Amino acid sequence: MRRKLVIGNWKMNGSRDSINTLLSGITAGLATKSAQQADTAVCAPAPYLAQCQQLLTGTPVAWGSQDVSAYAAGAYTGEVAASMLNDFGCRYAIVGHSERRAYHGESNELVAQKALAAVNAGLTPVVCVGETLEQREAGQTNVIVCAQLQAVMDVLDTASLAKIVLAYEPVWAIGTGKTATPAMAQEVHAELRKQLASRSVEVAQGMQILYGGSMKPDNAKELMAQPDIDGGLIGGAALKPADFLGIIYAAD
Ligand code: PEP
Repeated sequence: MRRKLVIGNWKMNGSRDSINTLLSGITAGLATKSAQQADTAVCAPAPYLAQCQQLLTGTPVAWGSQDVSAYAAGAYTGEVAASMLNDFGCRYAIVGHSERRAYHGESNELVAQKALAAVNAGLTPVVCVGETLEQREAGQTNVIVCAQLQAVMDVLDTASLAKIVLAYEPVWAIGTGKTATPAMAQEVHAELRKQLASRSVEVAQGMQILYGGSMKPDNAKELMAQPDIDGGLIGGAALKPADFLGIIYAAD
């Protein structure tokens, strides 16, 4: 049985003070629950990872970054290496978020190299795939997400592939309040799992595939009840303790 996983993506939001408040709200909420079934993490802007490490060590909440360099070290101004994220106790690194693909020109191949760098450093890359509205309307959803996944499968051997988390995030649903219906999301998740199975049925069965795109406490349960949806990657709702906790509870 795959465990559910709920990851918050704070994007470029927060301050030292607001993160103190947010994390104490989340950890206090989780402390009132006796048996938490779902795994949980927050992906913070890089300057706040030390604060996450300080406040979350010893709690059930892991932390991670929103991006990682494809390179191990060297003359790459502004980049953050996977080993540096490791130094601050990160478990996860989001790679290929649609905002990075769209605003920073990240190609499928670069995203795959980032996933490889993360795995090589012992981090779990959260590889995001998703189609734009135009692509969905043109009937290209499966072709697009499968090409995004294939680039990663081309670079990772089977043992490394088993170490990633996949997130299906339809671009038209991110930050828009428009959520894919559970059936729409399930269809894509099943397609992704089928593609993984073409490499290894065992890897496909074990992989946590998250849904992301305007997930909220009131739609989370139905989405996560789908057989191939193993949790959520949460943007806006991860910035409010009550909403983020509501989604974690929906995953339990
Ligand atoms: C995201 O940024 O990964 C995301 C899913 O955002 P939101 O939940 O706000 O749609």
